[in-house]
Amino acid sequence: MRAEARRALSELYAEVEAEVARHRPRCEMSGRCCDFEAHGHELWSSALETAYARDAAGGVVPEAPSSRCPWHVDGLCRLRDGRPLGCRLYFCDPAWTDTMPAIYERFHARLVALHAEHGVPYGYERFVESVRRVVAPDAGDAR
Ligand code: SF4
Repeated sequence: MRAEARRALSELYAEVEAEVARHRPRCEMSGRCCDFEAHGHELWSSALETAYARDAAGGVVPEAPSSRCPWHVDGLCRLRDGRPLGCRLYFCDPAWTDTMPAIYERFHARLVALHAEHGVPYGYERFVESVRRVVAPDAGDAR
């Protein structure tokens, strides 16, 4: 992944974290966000986010059942710095449920724009499958 694209995404994620800190949704440490099948949801990520996550993980994706995120270990996320937008905005807090979609859409629109700004073809796929796959060099030089 090119350094400029990585830096731009890192700055966007910092803004996401600041927005979350402003709203302070409650995390119940339930692990529901990372146990997809058991809780009936999917985690999707864009091409740049997938490349960013792979870089943060040193290009190594741990073995895990396809229904779970491979970085969810003993109830904790082992990919905190590399996790995609969906993870950063998912909280079980019922008070957050109505607030989150608009925030997600706002940041996701900027994510889409980042792809264009850095010449990376936009893609949006299920995170676990896409992060395991070798990404073509034109998708941000991701391995
Ligand atoms: S990247 Fe981290 S927060 Fe996101 S699903 Fe995986 S373990 Fe959970």
